[in-house]
Amino acid sequence: MTQADLTHDVSKGSVMQSYRAHSHWFNTASDSQFSPALQNDLTADVCVIGGGINGLSTAYHLVRLDPNCRVVVLEKDVVGFGASGRNAGQLVVSFGGADLGMLMKLYGPKKIAAALRYSEQGLAMLERLTAEERIDFDYDRTGYIKTALRAKGEGMLDKYMDCYERTGQSHHFTRMSEHEVQQELHSPYLGHALFDPRGGQFNPLKLIRGLKSAVVRHGGTIFENSPVAAVTREKTEIKVHTGMGSVRCQRLVVATNAFSHQFPGLEDLGIQQAQTPLMIRAAITDPIPEHIWQEAGWPRRAGVNVFSPLFYSFAPTADGRILSVSGFHAQVPKGRSLEAEIAWQLRNDGHIGAFFPRLKEVRVAQTWGGPISITADQIPHVGATKDPRVFHVCGCWGHGMVLGTHHGRTLAELALGLQTESTEMWFVKRAKKRWPTYFIGNLAASAGIAHNRFLGRRIANRLTPPIKLT
Ligand SMILES: Cc1cc2nc3c(=O)[nH]c(=O)nc-3n(C[C@H](O)[C@H](O)[C@H](O)COP(=O)(O)OP(=O)(O)OC[C@H]3O[C@@H](n4cnc5c(N)ncnc54)[C@H](O)[C@@H]3O)c2cc1C
Repeated sequence: MTQADLTHDVSKGSVMQSYRAHSHWFNTASDSQFSPALQNDLTADVCVIGGGINGLSTAYHLVRLDPNCRVVVLEKDVVGFGASGRNAGQLVVSFGGADLGMLMKLYGPKKIAAALRYSEQGLAMLERLTAEERIDFDYDRTGYIKTALRAKGEGMLDKYMDCYERTGQSHHFTRMSEHEVQQELHSPYLGHALFDPRGGQFNPLKLIRGLKSAVVRHGGTIFENSPVAAVTREKTEIKVHTGMGSVRCQRLVVATNAFSHQFPGLEDLGIQQAQTPLMIRAAITDPIPEHIWQEAGWPRRAGVNVFSPLFYSFAPTADGRILSVSGFHAQVPKGRSLEAEIAWQLRNDGHIGAFFPRLKEVRVAQTWGGPISITADQIPHVGATKDPRVFHVCGCWGHGMVLGTHHGRTLAELALGLQTESTEMWFVKRAKKRWPTYFIGNLAASAGIAHNRFLGRRIANRLTPPIKLT
């Protein structure tokens, strides 16, 4: 039976009906055929759990590297249900936790330089893959702008550049003076900036669905609505159980990212303690009429990331809106659930208009949230577990679309027993540091959020005019 035979519209409706509130990308997605749930017992060479960028990139690279490899992907909901279909749509070259200075202290410039090159290769892979597979994902290679807040001066940005200089990669950035930033963005708050021409804006759900189609076209099989409920590891094979079927396989890739703490099994491999989730909130405006764009400036239409504990990002979309993410509104989930998905406060908080007064009349059309994954050692976890047949990836740290593309290739190579530059990368091979318990990870994330909120409030009060954060 082929995937095409299996595919039918299980929703008796569509993405449009069931998933609109999940994100702007779901809300504006065209009708889609979901893949059916797994309903029988199958055999595969590799089973991949999770239909986000990491899982689908793994499946894609498996079928491309070895066309004979039987690959099955199991997604508990629909592809893109996790962060991959709910993010801010910026392709950025980045690695690990937000504090590059801290990463440099922990791992040293040589390792961080290698990791940043790995991320850059991920971007090249993604650009190549989407061109080869003719995936239209509204990619606009604008680069992006990292700005400091005028109220805080150049110090933080300078420290960031110092770190980059030590990794030998500062040549990627062009400095923008406060005057240049004003000329482009007309913001009372933004000061100096760095411009990185790599990456840009894209529609993540289009990317994920395009990748899903490519996996299927090259012979992989994808089941949606197929939550993995248990995994049993025997000497000769691994058996992955859903409520309605099972997959027997030789290799297993668990690409459950911020949901990993909920994973029902593999406790002895430490999957549940590998990360802790954090909910990130996003808001998107109505389409902005061209004459308002003309007034607002943004000649590059590049995303703007505010480099400060008062973190904000603002990214123009292909349909002429602005998508904003606010660090202040990040939230640690209560308990283990990842339910909180709507950030209704952002509908009326006025921050887009505060940062960009020429856009103050523009209405926020939709808000949502999605989970990112935080690790104890500040960097992504990718690679083999104690059982060399089982691989795990998590710890996206809020910028995992580019990295996830490369991780997928790395995981495919590992699952096929290949040894490459990527499989030998220091953060792939190292023993991963886990949170002692989920509770402690959750507590540490809460403390981090509380600290950032405290700093954020202080900074917001110093802005002219001050921003009211509630
Ligand atoms: C609001 C927000 C803004 C962001 N902005 C950006 C950005 O601009 N740029 C960027 O690069 N990154 C951004 N990120 C981060 C980026 O989205 C993530 O790094 C990336 O999507 C992680 O991909 P993933 O495949 O690891 O995880 P996910 O996309 O979360 O996929 C994991 C999948 O596993 C499935 N799953 C879980 N448990 C099971 C189970 N038991 N059985 C079967 N399936 C299961 C889930 O349903 C989910 O689909 C943002 C994230 C958020 C939330």
